[in-house]
Amino acid sequence: MSGVSVTKDAKGAAEAADDLVVLSNVNKHFGALHVLQDVNLSIARGEVVVVIGPSGSGKSTLCRTINRLETVDSGTITIDGKELPSEGRELARLRADVGMVFQSFNLFAHKTVLQNVMLGQMKVRKTDQATAAKKAQALLDRVGVGTQADKYPAQLSGGQQQRVAIARALAMDPKVILFDEPTSALDPEMINEVLEVMQQLAAEGMTMVVVTHEMGFARSAANRVVFMADGKIVEEAQPEQFFSNPRSDRAKDFLSKIL
Ligand code: ADP
Ligand code: MG
Repeated sequence: MSGVSVTKDAKGAAEAADDLVVLSNVNKHFGALHVLQDVNLSIARGEVVVVIGPSGSGKSTLCRTINRLETVDSGTITIDGKELPSEGRELARLRADVGMVFQSFNLFAHKTVLQNVMLGQMKVRKTDQATAAKKAQALLDRVGVGTQADKYPAQLSGGQQQRVAIARALAMDPKVILFDEPTSALDPEMINEVLEVMQQLAAEGMTMVVVTHEMGFARSAANRVVFMADGKIVEEAQPEQFFSNPRSDRAKDFLSKIL
């Protein structure tokens, strides 16, 4: 009996050692609203976690706390074993390890596509201009918008802009990329070109947290689905299990509305 438990503990320790992002007892309020309630979540290196749940359940806030775009009231967040401080140079360093892709692209409108992908490399990573340009072009090629490098964001389609935003995130060599509803602002015919890039990243082993309503993506790319409601993680499961046999009433209700 004890042999079994020793093996299990050892495995648990090995898994914990490979956790890249760990949220422990994270609480966050907006005034009276308890938007994150004792959230515990560990994301392993190379894992793709899809976060789903009703509007207002705290999904965006969860993402934003992971790179301290939002502070937390209590609890800890560690990135690759280092606890996120609330401010300062160490925060900037850790934050650079966490890429973020937003629903609204958030590209710099007055910079070309190439410059958008060069800037962070030069400012944060102190890469020289020629090296940054070369890497930017290679990343734009990789996400299929290499020919758009000299255009401005407004001259691109939404799907192309979002792929530029992904290239910009990749340019920082992040340890993890957070995607907050990356296809929600796109016309339907452009959703797949963005999901395909994300699928490819997932297949290459990128650690990803993806808030999305694209259940096809969740089924095919996620290692784990995290279901949130009212600021809590209500349920976590492998996609197969979650979609075929959700345990909580909240998840059943949510799935019946979207599937
Ligand atoms: P989701 O992404 O799941 O739709 P959010 O994390 O955006 O949810 O929001 C969770 C709740 O927190 C919502 O009720 C929202 O109105 C509220 N909220 C989000 N950001 C702020 C803010 N900066 N100030 C006050 N309330 C906020
Ligand atoms: Mg949101």
